[in-house]
Formats: sequence, structure tokens, C-alpha cells
Amino acid sequence: MIYDKNTQTLSHTMEQKANKFVNLGCLFQINPNVFICKPIPNYNKTTYTIIRQGFRYACNCQGFNKKARSMSFPYCSHTIALKIQLQRGNIKMGTIKEEAQAYIAPKLIKNISELESVPTNFAVLSEDKIDRDGQPYVVKYFEANGEKYRIPGKVLGDLKEILKHNANLEKFKVSKVGSGFDTKYTVIPL
Ligand SMILES: [Zn+2]
Repeated sequence: MIYDKNTQTLSHTMEQKANKFVNLGCLFQINPNVFICKPIPNYNKTTYTIIRQGFRYACNCQGFNKKARSMSFPYCSHTIALKIQLQRGNIKMGTIKEEAQAYIAPKLIKNISELESVPTNFAVLSEDKIDRDGQPYVVKYFEANGEKYRIPGKVLGDLKEILKHNANLEKFKVSKVGSGFDTKYTVIPL
């Protein structure tokens, strides 16, 4: 049984749902770190992707992400189901079909150099992503005018140096030269 901190109850329903996923064979392994949980027929329609991060598992469902905001060890029926399935040791390997269902289309994150001016007090957010080899990585970004802008590590490094000399810096812009792996960013204090 799983204790639910938010409702102060033992969540029977979540455990029951997890067992249902296992018993109906909804779980597939895509690669060493990526798994999917297919929907229970006639119950829901979405296939969720679960990523192994060391000893932890992260799911892209709403329930998991809601918990992740307030708990250090979030869980959902899909991650619980995966743990049960892995303990049983007979998880199915995904075919092209499952691979396609697990594919997470990259969200469009804009380039910071597209902005004329960036306030230094914008909140930094981060997003867990998986690369083509199934390895998890984190993208740092901020939101401006309803769009997401990635913050390259080089920009943070440059800003750190500038802030050493001017801790009151309020705005900056980033100029970008080149593309792909050869992209060079320069931070310009404003
Ligand atoms: Zn989930």
C-alpha cells in the first residue's frame, strides 16, 4: 500500500491501477533508461514515457509532475507499475510501434539571442529531456512573452563574471555567432 501525503490516506486506487497495468501487459522497455506504459483498454488513451534516472523513475504524466513540485520522491501509478514489472523481471522489449509511442517530440525552445534585452531577475526553470540515446539531460530556460528561451551554460558563466564586477546588473543581451556545435555566445551588459 502507498501512503499519500496529500490526502493523508493510503492510496488503494493507485496501487490497484498499477497492478492493472502490470497484469494487462502495458509496460515495455524501449532502451536501458526509457520505458513506456500503454493505456488500459477502454479506460484511458495516453501512452506515458517513464525515464530511469539513477534509482529514480520520472513519468511524463500530470499526476507525477504535480507531485514532483512538492515531493522529493514523486510517484504515479505508471512508475509504481514499472517497479512491480521490473521486480517480476519479465518486461517486454518495445517494437518500432512502442518506440514511436515513446518518442517525445522536442519542444521548441527559442534562442536567447533573439531577445533585445533580458532582465537578470527572470526565474530560471528547468526541463528534463532525453537525448536520442535515451540519456536524460536538463535544459535550463526562462519564459518571456509566453515563449521559452534556453539559457546556454556559456551565458551563465559569462554573467557570473560580469556580476562579480556589477552585482546590480539588471539587463543584458546575448549575441550569437555561428550555429550548431560552433555556436559562440557573447553576453553584452545593458
Ligand atoms: Zn505517470
